[in-house]
Amino acid sequence: MTFAIHGLAVARGIAIGRAVLVASSRVDVAHYFIEASQVDAEIGRIRAGRNSVVDEIQRLQTSVAHMGSKEAPHELSALLDVHLMLLQDEELIGGVTRWISDRLYNAEWALTTQLEVIGRQFDEMEDEYLRERKADLEQLVEKVLRVMKGMASPVVPPTNRAVRKTSQQDLLLDDTVDVPLILIAHDLSPADMLQFKQSVFAGFITDVGGKTSHTAIVARSLDIPAVVGARLSSQLVRQDDWVIIDGDAGVVVVDPSPIILAEYGFKQRQHELDRGRLARLLHTPAVTLDGQKIELLANIEMPEDALSAIKAGAVGVGLFRSEFLFMGRQGKLPNEEEQYQAYRRAIEGMQGLPVTIRTVDVGADKPLDSSLQDEAHLNPALGLRAIRWSLADPAMFLTQLRAILRAAAHGQANLLIPMLVHASEIRHTMALIDRARVELDNRGVAYGPVKIGAMIEIPAAALTLKVFLKYFDFLSIGTNDLIQYTLAIDRADESVAHLYDPLHPAVLRLVALTIAECHAQGKHVSVCGEMAGDTSLTRLLLGMGLRSFSMHPAQILAVKQEVLRADVAKLTGWAQQVMADDEPGLRMVKH
Ligand code: PEP
Ligand code: MG
Repeated sequence: MTFAIHGLAVARGIAIGRAVLVASSRVDVAHYFIEASQVDAEIGRIRAGRNSVVDEIQRLQTSVAHMGSKEAPHELSALLDVHLMLLQDEELIGGVTRWISDRLYNAEWALTTQLEVIGRQFDEMEDEYLRERKADLEQLVEKVLRVMKGMASPVVPPTNRAVRKTSQQDLLLDDTVDVPLILIAHDLSPADMLQFKQSVFAGFITDVGGKTSHTAIVARSLDIPAVVGARLSSQLVRQDDWVIIDGDAGVVVVDPSPIILAEYGFKQRQHELDRGRLARLLHTPAVTLDGQKIELLANIEMPEDALSAIKAGAVGVGLFRSEFLFMGRQGKLPNEEEQYQAYRRAIEGMQGLPVTIRTVDVGADKPLDSSLQDEAHLNPALGLRAIRWSLADPAMFLTQLRAILRAAAHGQANLLIPMLVHASEIRHTMALIDRARVELDNRGVAYGPVKIGAMIEIPAAALTLKVFLKYFDFLSIGTNDLIQYTLAIDRADESVAHLYDPLHPAVLRLVALTIAECHAQGKHVSVCGEMAGDTSLTRLLLGMGLRSFSMHPAQILAVKQEVLRADVAKLTGWAQQVMADDEPGLRMVKH
């Protein structure tokens, strides 16, 4: 039966494919296809992982048998029996084997997929005791995954066979081979998303998350349709169901009828035609009708993204979110050399164009590892994140600063500091940058010049620009956080997403104020939050005086199209009126 789930549109386009439900696991799981010749080795790997956990439980059983009833109550040995039964159940290994041999999933992916399938069967059980065994199974699977992590993989890691573009006809006829896959999860951390960067999935759906949550931002950078905040989707959709993602409307259609499939197939082709048309603007300079030159920069997460930035016609990188180099490493941070090489790759990848590297911004909805989700602090978004985290660990911060300064010897680099608010933090940061230079001098290591900028993403910073303009060469407005902190709306919480409003007059005033003050002082200013890549806001930002926009490479050409159609002289007065409105959103709709 066809039904629809509504969520938040985060990345445009239409995707049609089969659902792959990913059980949330505290262990990072790779998802890739293996070659048919690797099936036996992959099944062997899963059996070895399972057997090793079975051995461990049996050893525990033996030692329990030698203990008295005080140290080892009877329930413990009964529980161990249940664990053995769960692990040796044919349904588990049989299912995993099928996912590997029929679908060519790698062993870990097959295991988590089968966990999902069995987990649902547990959920439906009448008996409460049996229902509760789901948690045991999850724990056991996690153990197997951990054991497998420690084993050498016989498979060459991610082949990441590209998803075949499947036509509408194929979708109706072909049920098993190579159809696009749609990933569905309750939640995905930014680190999980990063793993999917060169992945096989044609679209993403999550139950939770806001439009500018970091998970949504990475989904957008993948340039594939995605919907977040589609509550209960991971429960309502079953493994292998056909689903359609309408990334423009934020809607997920499950089990579509042939008529609906045909309609979305048409929309999908329309999107491809639109993309083709936009591609013609690649070499057109971004200049408004009245001759204003506009700078269109790229936001990137990894050095390799520099290539997409170049391909999209970016004139530089306005925001390199360096924290992605720090994530998913089980807390082991990258050393100076590793970071230096990564920054250097990004700088060289940009072929002489400027690259703005932001120092690490972890915390809040960007934990270093999904397993290290910040549960210890009640308000992580207001806690030790971004520059606060860096200043709390000067050795780590100095390592990063030295790496960036060294990379700057290979091209044009700017250094950008996130989340500053106090003058004392600014002075402390500047002192550490000086110290990093001195340390490199003492070691006799070459480094390059950098312009130093600050992000304006806390209202208090926007209201005390004088001190920022005194110390910094340029400012970059992080509207994602500026909105979050101005309106007191958690950007990652879908239950308040309807209140997360870039057009709130207070937000617009803070953005306009920052742009105007920078211009008055002759300092460069850009917007690098998601507002910069939202084509419905391009003309407003131009009218507010913005001349530099930084966004995901995939958004650049669409924003350029808006720029080419804009007459800034005419937009200035209108932008003033919008900002003076009680509800600017209404005037924007009418315009
Ligand atoms: C912002 O806050 O707008 C920004 C660009 O930084 P991030 O999204 O990484 O917090
Ligand atoms: Mg931010």
